[in-house]
This record gives sequence, C-alpha cells and structure tokens, in this order.
Amino acid sequence: MNTTEYITHSADETIALGRELAAKLHDLRMVILHGDLGAGKTTLVKGIAEGIEAASQDDVTSPTFTLIHEYRGPDVTLYHVDLYRIDTERELATLGLDELCASEGSLVVIEWGEKFPRLLAECDAEIRIERVGEMERKVTVVKGR
Ligand code: ADP
Ligand code: MG
Repeated sequence: MNTTEYITHSADETIALGRELAAKLHDLRMVILHGDLGAGKTTLVKGIAEGIEAASQDDVTSPTFTLIHEYRGPDVTLYHVDLYRIDTERELATLGLDELCASEGSLVVIEWGEKFPRLLAECDAEIRIERVGEMERKVTVVKGR
C-alpha cells in the first residue's frame, strides 16, 4: 500500500493534479473517489480525462443523474461513475461496472464508490478529497490494496 498526499488551492490546481495523476492511474482498472459533496471529485476527474487525452475539462460534467459518462482516449477509455443516487446492490448490479472494469484499456473512476464495501475491497486505488478551507483541498491517493 502506497499513500501520497497533495494540497491544492483552487479548482484549477485540482484539475492540474488530475492531469498529473492520470499518468499514474492509466493502467489501473477501478479507482474510488471519496469525499463530501463539493469536495472536488468531479473537478479532479476533469483533469484525469485531460491527462489521458479523452476529453477537455469543460466536456466533463457530473454523472449524478446519468450515472456513467464515457470518454474515449487514444489508449484508455475513462468511465466516470457517480453512485450518489444508487442505494442498493441490485441497482448497482444494473450498471454493469464489473464488465466495464474487466474490459481491456478501461479506467473506471467512481464517485461515492465507498458506499459499497465490495467496491472498496476490489478497487485498485482510492483517492480521498477533503475540504481544508474555502479553496484548499487535501487529496490523498492510496494505491495498491
Ligand atoms: P464533487 O464532485 O466532490 O461533489 P465538484 O468537483 O463538483 O465536487 O465541485 C467542487 C467545487 O469546489 C467546485 O465548485 C470548485 O470550483 C470548488 N473548489 C474550490 N476550491 C477547489 C479546489 N481546491 N479543488 C477542487 N474544487 C474546488
Ligand atoms: Mg461530483
């Protein structure tokens, strides 16, 4: 297990961190983003999507209602998932996340994935985002479980 901490001071800095992290995450299958509403999870995904050249930051919007957004990059396809509105294992199963994670070249990044202990146990990395101040965020990346 390997833990790295970062501090960002603006949404732009969090996007830049996402771009940087993309290089470290691109060969993983499942990453859980853990943090309160407004912490900056979706903001970080904007950077990850840019880092793998799958989308520009303005094209990445919250999948709160649509549940899954897909962004195809040259090497990696990013699936951005939001489980905020998903409450049961049965609803979770209908999303087919296992199939997405199993497919070659896919990176599945899940907001609110920690709601399901099974996903936490299966994921390759967990990224925790905490609000430290108005604009300050602590981003903790825990890899390898
Ligand atoms: P989440 O997906 O965790 O609910 P969002 O990324 O949608 O959160 O929203 C984060 C909000 O916080 C945005 O309005 C963003 O502009 C603001 N913000 C302020 N400072 C930061 C920061 N350092 N990192 C990320 N977002 C920040
Ligand atoms: Mg979000």
